[in-house]
Amino acid sequence: MSDFAQTVKQQADIVKIVESYIRLRKAGAQNYSGLCPFHKEKSPSFSVHAVRQFYHCFGCQASGDVFSFVGKIENVSFPEAVRIVAQKCGIPLPKREFSSPEEAAESRLRTRLLELHEAATAFFEEQLRGPEGAVAREYLAGRGLTPEGIKTFRIGWAPDGFNALRDRLSPMADDETLRASGLFSSKEQGDGAMGHIYDKFRKRIMFPISGESGRVIAFTGRTLETGEKAGPKYFNSPETPLYSKSMVLFNLDKARTAIRQAEFALLVEGQMDCISVFLRGIHNVIATSGTAFTEQQVALLKRHTAQVLVNFDPDTAGANAAEKSIALLTEEGFNIKIVTLEGGLDPDRFIRERGVEAYTAALRAASRQADYLIARARQLFPGQSAEQKQKAMNYLLPHIRRMPERLARDQFAADAAQKLGITDSVLREELRQAALKRRDHIEVKAAALTEVERVLLRALAITDPENQEARRLAVQAIAEQTSWFEHLGTFQALQALAHRQAADPMDVVEDPAQRALFAEALLAETRPPQETEVSSAIQEIQERAIANRLRDLRALIAEAERRGDFTELALLTRQKLDLDRSLRELHNRRHGV
Ligand SMILES: [Zn+2]
Repeated sequence: MSDFAQTVKQQADIVKIVESYIRLRKAGAQNYSGLCPFHKEKSPSFSVHAVRQFYHCFGCQASGDVFSFVGKIENVSFPEAVRIVAQKCGIPLPKREFSSPEEAAESRLRTRLLELHEAATAFFEEQLRGPEGAVAREYLAGRGLTPEGIKTFRIGWAPDGFNALRDRLSPMADDETLRASGLFSSKEQGDGAMGHIYDKFRKRIMFPISGESGRVIAFTGRTLETGEKAGPKYFNSPETPLYSKSMVLFNLDKARTAIRQAEFALLVEGQMDCISVFLRGIHNVIATSGTAFTEQQVALLKRHTAQVLVNFDPDTAGANAAEKSIALLTEEGFNIKIVTLEGGLDPDRFIRERGVEAYTAALRAASRQADYLIARARQLFPGQSAEQKQKAMNYLLPHIRRMPERLARDQFAADAAQKLGITDSVLREELRQAALKRRDHIEVKAAALTEVERVLLRALAITDPENQEARRLAVQAIAEQTSWFEHLGTFQALQALAHRQAADPMDVVEDPAQRALFAEALLAETRPPQETEVSSAIQEIQERAIANRLRDLRALIAEAERRGDFTELALLTRQKLDLDRSLRELHNRRHGV
């Protein structure tokens, strides 16, 4: 870890940083708990240790320090996580934190582009309010958008003409930077040089697209005109250093808190659907912007929930997009339901025409994924002929295989057989095989922790100089009498900790199951263990080791008696008596007799 990262880690409070993403409540003298952002759960198994500055989830075994948390939740590399934490703590970034001059230049460019997008957003908003924006205002009002809603989503208007935005932004940046923003076009000249730049978005309603931090990184422009000259109805910013279409979920910045609270996300297709639903009080809604879900978007969403309600347009394109999204979400272990709206309406029209109650009712009536897919299979391949049934089944098989859980696959296969009326034994067998296929998910289950192990783990984790003696005792015992400790479930962790030098204790235990046990011991403690506790624990371990050895000896003695081997018998008996005596002594010492 660099000096800078070290400094940031010392100054950052992991509790505050984690709280900027999820809700935590105090759960003990030194720890906080909340719902884990990395897996789906109903009761909190995610803990943050305020003193030792680590987090640990007893549900999914995720654990680590503040950088690992931010890296995981923001889906960024270590250096980027350090930067984010530094920024949250108001620690200025040193120039040398950029690993290369290119990286520093890229960071400068991104900052510039964010400023340009902010200025452009403000400009478009201004234009919408001005005389030129009258038609757009009328259109938006017609779609049920209030001035308040327009403000919330910062909707704007790109005026007619080629230079309006350029004239506004050109004092802020050179042509090269303006070009990189994706907000301008230019015609290549005869000599290959780039021509003058001009506004890319003209006579369009502008919907800003924000990154997860809420800052505008791109736009979607919607034309109000029809006909050849108008161009495509919707028109997006191109890929830029700020914006990559496949990496962004529209409205996630506004929806993420609500998604965590509701424990599910409502996924719609278009931005207008999303805005319309959001403004009527359903805040956990996001949109894919008219494309099928990408893997990156799924990863992005997974950090917030594992439950999705899909409400795409009921037309063919919408149904196909829904199906692709379902496939991707299923593979990632999402729990999916599908909303089908009556009358073939899209969410925007439905909620405007029938109201939010009717829409909420439709959400509640969402079909399970299996039911939806079976219904769709029957719709695509109607009729009772063997051929149609085979086709319907072939359509369903990949969906069944994709489901991560065996039970769900079995259920799906049984439902499919029943609803498609499949009686043929060969087809039934195919369904059964599909249900069998996918590998079972292996859970890392933590074994129970004994009191002795708790004391030892905590002693070995001592970092303050005052309590070093307690730590030294444990280290010495483990180094010198390794065999006493071998039968303990946490032996691996104990050894790793006994051999750590100055390293952060949480970093040296690598095995997830072992780390879980270690975290459990630390999360339960209120103070570091005293020397007397440690030596008492070591004695208990020793007693147990002796007791084990005695058990072995008794078996060997019985065996020697049977064989009539008196030399061996005498030797073993002497050993046994010695051990009996030391066990007694140990026991008395420990209990103050
Ligand atoms: Zn978890």
